[in-house]
Amino acid sequence: MSRFWSDIVHRLTPYVPGEQTESPGVVKLNTNENPYGPSPRVLEALRAGIDDSLRLYPDPASVRLCDAIAERHGVTPAQVFVGNGSDEVLAHTFQALLMHSSPVLFPDVTYSFYPVYCKLFGTSYKEIPLGDAFQIDVDAYMQDNGGIIFPNPNAPTGRGLAVSEIERLLESNTNSVVVIDEAYVDFGCESVVPLVHQYPQLLVTHTLSKSHALAGLRVGYAIGHPDLVAALDRVKNSFNSYPLDRLAQTAAIVAIEDVEHLAATCRKVIDNRTALELALKKLGFDVMPSAANFVLVRHPERDAAELSACLRERSVIVRHFRKPERIAPFIRITVGTDEQCSVLLAAMREIFE
Ligand code: PMP
Repeated sequence: MSRFWSDIVHRLTPYVPGEQTESPGVVKLNTNENPYGPSPRVLEALRAGIDDSLRLYPDPASVRLCDAIAERHGVTPAQVFVGNGSDEVLAHTFQALLMHSSPVLFPDVTYSFYPVYCKLFGTSYKEIPLGDAFQIDVDAYMQDNGGIIFPNPNAPTGRGLAVSEIERLLESNTNSVVVIDEAYVDFGCESVVPLVHQYPQLLVTHTLSKSHALAGLRVGYAIGHPDLVAALDRVKNSFNSYPLDRLAQTAAIVAIEDVEHLAATCRKVIDNRTALELALKKLGFDVMPSAANFVLVRHPERDAAELSACLRERSVIVRHFRKPERIAPFIRITVGTDEQCSVLLAAMREIFE
């Protein structure tokens, strides 16, 4: 039936999301979900939101949610844009702000959705190699471009970049938009959100999927100059006027406001990450220093695909990327609860015996 496809569909290489399974007994460490669950106040708000009002459309502009996000980050609501997961926010960003005659720059090892968006929107891009230690070198981005985007901390490496380095990039790159994807920022990096007051070309994206443990709710947002937000609004209102449903808006407001829950769960994830890194090093792994809720590791004597398959046989699912080639020797492991980490480590020990 592909004769009915449009030309662009023939040319697409869609993103492949990590496997989602709810089989009991599986230790799921493959998609960087938060093992600790959302704030109990969020669940209460969701239950309370299930009523007759669901017959009505939600607020198309998510005004109350934008207000809550603005307050939390010390910006004005005109500097906030919300979407159905940060993936949607990023998609609109590529179309609204990164489609120009020069190529968009992003790292060669990074979130693999970026090139997918470029292909969808017909935007040219250039991959900038990470340094030898898989670090982002901002000097390499100081060249002609139609925009720059990378996550901080980067994914799937987990490596964080200092705010001063991002500021150095912003100082030199004033004629195109710089997007910092802070999906994992709460697990150990300093946010550049405060810099949006100074740099009108800076857009910062966040998600409730990771640190707020709400991957199933699909809420993400961007913060930047009102002109950047206006561009995103124009695309959104030409695509889907109601991206966030009533329950998502209600629950997201509570999640943003419950800063104690956020801090407590992030603390636990960070502590578990430290313990996991140590235990994996003892097993002989090279562990990339991580500021995220996952670790990228490689064993000098084991093929990563094989290791991932052996773990799966023991009901532990991790992520192995065959491409790009530079990360093919690694596996990415989401930081789980104490118990999940213990199961993972016991499985590793069994494999190595
Ligand atoms: N950015 C990065 C770097 C990610 O890893 C992810 C999660 N796959 C996202 C954005 C998108 O997250 P979400 O759509 O759940 O907000």
